[in-house]
Amino acid sequence: MRRVLVAGNWKMHKVPSEARVWFAELKRLLPPLESEAAVLPAFPILPAAKEVLSGTQVAYGAQDVSSHREGAYTGEVSARMLKDLGCRYAIVGHSERRRYHGETDALVAEKARRLLEEGLTPILCVGEPLEVRERGEAVPYTLAQLGGSLEGVSPPGPEDLVIAYEPVWAIGTGRNATPEDAEAMHQALRQALAERYGEGFAQRVRILYGGSVNPQNFADLLSMPNVDGGLVGGASLELPSFLALLRLAG
Ligand code: PGA
Repeated sequence: MRRVLVAGNWKMHKVPSEARVWFAELKRLLPPLESEAAVLPAFPILPAAKEVLSGTQVAYGAQDVSSHREGAYTGEVSARMLKDLGCRYAIVGHSERRRYHGETDALVAEKARRLLEEGLTPILCVGEPLEVRERGEAVPYTLAQLGGSLEGVSPPGPEDLVIAYEPVWAIGTGRNATPEDAEAMHQALRQALAERYGEGFAQRVRILYGGSVNPQNFADLLSMPNVDGGLVGGASLELPSFLALLRLAG
């Protein structure tokens, strides 16, 4: 019912010329997929993604978007620009943006609204820091973040929103959540989405896990009924490991 999505969050890695070669290799080596593959490189790489990946099975998108539509906002990139570049997705609310750029739930919701206005799908990230998990408050914390980040956000259908559960302590640390802990959180998130958008929507919306996903742990995470794919940082940068993840997703 829910098509598995493997999305590579490249963060601030690779330059456009390197990415172009990588995309061409990916295109050449891509196995036939039932699942969906996406790459999310830095803004300057998106034209190369458009050139090389348009018309392939691989979708692409951005790691952020402006909360403004257009105007005098130096340094910002609008949802309309991303749409013109052929993006299907953009991440909003990644913990690195929340932490280093002070992004609030309200701002994240604003960004998600801008994307939906242009027909792009937000990949909305939520997840708790270590001290919150240690206090035993991971679920209420993450659900509050989800609620705040979806304020006024009305996706037309369940395919128009992706949620990524990314516990902050698992990102780039080599320490992933156990499949059971991920499943418990994903269940709670799906329940909250059912309360907000209805049961039918919640059953079809995809909830990805992110945080130290690699080809060694991905199959166990994916075997959980409410884990619908991965948002993958480090392990998406090298083509062999990205391809291995895609093969595991099927
Ligand atoms: P990681 O990053 O896979 O390197 O832990 C995931 C993310 O931040 O999206």
